[in-house]
This record gives sequence, C-alpha cells and structure tokens, in this order.
Amino acid sequence: MTTWGERLRRGAASWMGEGIDLFFPPRCALCRRDLPSAGDGAASDPAAPGDLCVACARDLSADVGRCIVCGEPGADGSCRRCRGRCSDWDGIAILAAYGDRLREAVLRCKRPTGDEVSRALAALLVGRHRTTFVGWRIDGVVPVPMHWLRRLSRGTSAAEEIARRVAGLLEVPFLRALSRQTATTMQNELPVSERRGNVATAFRVRRPVTGRRLLVIDDVVTTGSTLAACRRTLAAGGAEAVYAAAIARADRMVDGASHHGA
Ligand SMILES: [Zn+2]
Ligand SMILES: [Zn+2]
Repeated sequence: MTTWGERLRRGAASWMGEGIDLFFPPRCALCRRDLPSAGDGAASDPAAPGDLCVACARDLSADVGRCIVCGEPGADGSCRRCRGRCSDWDGIAILAAYGDRLREAVLRCKRPTGDEVSRALAALLVGRHRTTFVGWRIDGVVPVPMHWLRRLSRGTSAAEEIARRVAGLLEVPFLRALSRQTATTMQNELPVSERRGNVATAFRVRRPVTGRRLLVIDDVVTTGSTLAACRRTLAAGGAEAVYAAAIARADRMVDGASHHGA
C-alpha cells in the first residue's frame, strides 16, 4: 500500500534528490520495514523504487528445482516430461511456485497501488534468471496484454509493469507487441479444459516482430494456455524465438480454485 509518507517521499525525492532518504528512509516494497540506506554499507539503489528487504526477497524467491524448458518442478537440467522440447514456448523462466507469500505479493501487483511490488518481483526474476535470459539472447520483452476495457477498470496491468522493469534490467526494448482482441472470460473463472480455447484467438500482433527473440511475460502461469497463445501469435508474426517468464507458477492446478491464472 502506498502510504501518504511514501507518496510524499517520492514527490520530494524528485526535486530534492537522494538527500530525502535522510528524512524518509526507503522501505521494503512488501513489508514496509526500513531498508538499510546506502550509507549503511548495504546495497540500496535510490533510483529503483521497489526494493525488498532481505527476508522478503528470500521468502518470495524460494523455489524447487525446475525445468527451464517446460517449467515442471523437480527437474534439474534433464527433464523426463519434456525431454528438452516444449511445444508451448522455447523455454520458460519462473521465479517460484505460487505459495502463500508470493500469492499475496502477486495480488498486490494487481492493484493500482501495486506497481512498486511489480517492480520488486521483476528484479527478483531477473536476479534469478539473468544468465538464462542472456543465453536466450532476448532482444525484446513483451507483456501478456490485458484487454483495454479491463485495463481501464483495473487501473494497472501487473504483467506490463513487470515486463517494463525486466526490459529495463536486461537493457533490451520493452515492446507492447500484442493486443488482446476480445475481453475473454478471466482464465481463472473457467475449468482447465476450457482455458486453451478461451484464449486461442485472443491476441493480435500490433507491431513488427520479424526476426526478434522475445520474452513474453505474465504474472502467473497455471495451464500455460495464455503464454502458449501469445507465443503462437508472435511466431506467426515472424518472431525467431519466443521464450516465456512468469513470477509464479501454480504447480498443482485445482479446478475452481480462487487464484488468478492462465
Ligand atoms: Zn520486507
Ligand atoms: Zn521439462
């Protein structure tokens, strides 16, 4: 939640510079505990709102070993399920399983005041997978788009905020390369068996992607049908490779569960 103090700090920081931290010390984006300032010897970047305290960062990024191709847990390196090939994307990077604390953080991202948490989660994702992203030779980061009508009523798009920060940290272009044609039923309101059909034709390429190696980003992946539909659309638009990334993966999907997911 953005407190009045935080808003004041940000407003003041824009014209006073870093000195404002003396009066309003930077806080953890999630638990709001004071963060050690740069003067205390710890790393603290005043230009990057959305930092987390050490405890929150550790909690949120705790994960099992995971296949970097299909995303299944438990597979370190060689995966018996996909054997190194996945028809849905060229590879997928996940921050962690959708546990209680990560769920709380992701739900926070979906609120208009949650952009700071989105940026913090994006930084954790890049911190964990930077070598993989560099190895994939990503040259553009694409958010899973939200239909404009839903975007308007939500006030923010978590996938977009996360993708924007990931692009910044990887120093590659942030590309709104896809649009959502229809305000499809929310994936989490449908049984798993109907999700693929629900988004199969939902996306369009809205700018050239020919020859690009793209990273498509969503906040949560459940069945993978949304990211797979985005990949198919971008590949049909001429992208050379399409990788996927998400903050959380719901490893055991239960029909009718209340968590968001696609
Ligand atoms: Zn914290
Ligand atoms: Zn696999």
